Amino acid sequence: MLAQGHRQAGRSIALREPRIHGMIIGKSKKEIEKMRAAGKLVGLVLCELREMASPGISTIEIDRAAEKMIRDAGAEPTFKGYRGFPYSICASVNEQVVHGFPSNYKLNEGDIFSIDCGATLEGFVGDTATTVPVGRVDEDWLKLIEVTEQCLERAIEQCWPGKHLGDIGWAVQQHAEAHGYGVVRDYVGHGIGRRMHEDPQIPNYGKPGQGPRIKAGYIFAIEPMINLGTHFTKVLSDGWTVVTLDGKPSAHAEHTIAITEEGPQVLTRVGQKGESEAKLAACTGEVGQL
Ligand code: MG
Ligand code: MG
Repeated sequence: MLAQGHRQAGRSIALREPRIHGMIIGKSKKEIEKMRAAGKLVGLVLCELREMASPGISTIEIDRAAEKMIRDAGAEPTFKGYRGFPYSICASVNEQVVHGFPSNYKLNEGDIFSIDCGATLEGFVGDTATTVPVGRVDEDWLKLIEVTEQCLERAIEQCWPGKHLGDIGWAVQQHAEAHGYGVVRDYVGHGIGRRMHEDPQIPNYGKPGQGPRIKAGYIFAIEPMINLGTHFTKVLSDGWTVVTLDGKPSAHAEHTIAITEEGPQVLTRVGQKGESEAKLAACTGEVGQL
């Protein structure tokens, strides 16, 4: 789930939450281990949900499966009840960017389906998202998903002590814009820990070398939202669902990442970098054992 971006401050109270003004909360090694457990859990859940996303299944069925897996593992679905959000996942189809409500809508061949999921385990939160092609999907839309995932990987490569927050945003922006895509500005990634949204806000745009310096012990949820067309968005009348202004599709990818002296550790990744998460042997229903 996203933090509200600077440019829309005040526009949607649904996403506002008390701020820890300017304070980035560093985590101890012990806390990072707790975050790793929460991250692994939600990473495995997302992996299972990806497998479920096929033509004919309703997005509310996927939501119910997510809630059951999370609760069976002794965790809480972080999104449910967050600022009044009624579900355990955000289910955003095609032109929906983020924060879509799961519903009786049945996924269709050719849809792209963004799933965003959070779990709180022993007081710490993991947050991750992915966009799944449903059946056979138009090549332009597949490319959008692929480039969005590449944007996230390029952002993760910037997560070293001594780098700056602007390096992360720049990595996303220059790659997406090189493909002619729109980078969503209205919502941003975020620090994460005991609370889902901590400082800092992490925009998907920026300038190299600018913004706060990144330190070991910081944990970030980085989440590019990339649009096939314009970067402008609007919120539907339910007060939550964000859609592209031009109705063109949007893709979303998110990981929770710990910054260490040895570099970035992706807490929500299950399996190897670059491996299709849909095909991972890790998706074997072991979630309840964590
Ligand atoms: Mg999320
Ligand atoms: Mg998030």
